[in-house]
Amino acid sequence: PVVMGIETSCDETGVGIVRGHELLADAVASSVDEHARFGGVVPEVASRAHLEAMVPTVQRALDDAGLTLADLDGIAVTAGPGLAGALMVGVGAAKAYSIATGVPLYGVNHLSAHIAVDTLENGPIPEPAIGLLVSGGHSSIMMVEDLASKVTQLGASIDDAAGEAFDKVARLLGLPFPGGPYIDKAAKEGDRAFVQFPRGLSAAKDMERHRYDFSFSGLKTAVARWIEAQKAEGNNVPVNDVAAAFQEAVCDVLTRKAILAAKEHGVGTILLGGGVAANSRLRTLAMERAVDAGITLRYPRPKLCTDNGAMVAALGSHLVAAGVAPSRIDFPANSSMDVEVVSLADRL
Ligand code: ATP
Ligand code: MG
Ligand code: FE
Repeated sequence: PVVMGIETSCDETGVGIVRGHELLADAVASSVDEHARFGGVVPEVASRAHLEAMVPTVQRALDDAGLTLADLDGIAVTAGPGLAGALMVGVGAAKAYSIATGVPLYGVNHLSAHIAVDTLENGPIPEPAIGLLVSGGHSSIMMVEDLASKVTQLGASIDDAAGEAFDKVARLLGLPFPGGPYIDKAAKEGDRAFVQFPRGLSAAKDMERHRYDFSFSGLKTAVARWIEAQKAEGNNVPVNDVAAAFQEAVCDVLTRKAILAAKEHGVGTILLGGGVAANSRLRTLAMERAVDAGITLRYPRPKLCTDNGAMVAALGSHLVAAGVAPSRIDFPANSSMDVEVVSLADRL
C-alpha cells in the first residue's frame, strides 16, 4: 500500500510517504531554531509553526514521491502522545485530507511509529521482538508481539527520559539545545572512564522491583554536583570527558537491561528506536553486547530515529497490510495516549 504519514507531536512537521516498506518521501520542517533560545520547545510556537508548515510539507512530500493525493491507499497521523496543540494541527490536517480524498485514516501512536520505522531500513520485524524506545519523552523496553496490535511495556523510566537527561546535561555543560547530538559529538573526543557516574536502578535490590525500568534523574544530579565541585575548586570542566562519562552511564544501563529483557523472554531480536537511538555510542555498545549475547540488533539510520513523517507512514503501511480497520474520523488527538495502544480503533 501507498501511505502518507503526518507527524506533528513536537517541533517537527513531518510528512512521509511509503509504498510497503519502501520509503518514497520524507519531508521534515523543524521549528527547533525558534525554540533554541528558550532552551526547550515552546508549545504555542510549535503549534503555529506546524500550521504554517503543514500544507507546504505535504506538497513537498508528494512532489518528492512523484505522486498525488489520489495515489494514496491510506493516511496515517500521530494521534498521540505529544503536545496537545501540536498534535491537533496534524490530526486536523489528516482528517481534512482524508475527507477530501476518501482515503482511509489511521490515528496512530507516535511511539509504535518510532519502532515501525525500522521496517523501512531492515524489512519486516520478526515477532516477537524487544523494542528499546529511547526518546525525548520516553525510555521504555517494549515487547512487540504484533506490531499491528500487540505492543506491551515491560519497563520504563521512573523519572526523566533518556533524551531529557541528554538535554539537561548538555545544558549543564553549556552545549546548545537539543543537547543529545552535541553530547554525542563531544563524547567522541572524551574519556568515557573519566568518572564513574551512577547506573540507575542497577543494584541488586532495585533489580528485583525495577528489573526493566530506568532512572536518569539521579545521574543528572550526580553530573551537576560533579561540575559544581570542579567549579568550586576553580577547575575547568572537561566538557568532552564529562559528556563521554555521562553518555556511557546512560548507554550502559539501556543496553544491559534491553539485552536482559530479550534473554529472559527468549526473544532473539532487539530494535532501537526514538531520537536517542541516533546516538553513536548507544549503537556501538548495543551491537557489541547483542553480538556477545547471540541476539540480532536492528536500528534505522540516525535521520529516521528522530521525529519524522516516514515513521508514521511506515506504521500506517503495516496497519493497512495487516488489515487493521481505519480509525473513526472523529477521533481526538490524545496528548497522553497510552504507550500500548498502537492505533485508534474504528470505535471511540
Ligand atoms: P517522544 O518520542 O518521547 O514523544 P520526542 O519526539 O520529542 O519525544 P525524539 O525526536 O524522538 O523525541 O527524540 C529527541 C531526543 O533525542 C532529544 O532529547 C535529543 O537530544 C535526542 N537525541 C537526538 N540525537 C541524539 C544523539 N545523537 N545522541 C543522544 N540523544 C540524541
Ligand atoms: Mg524534535
Ligand atoms: Fe519522538
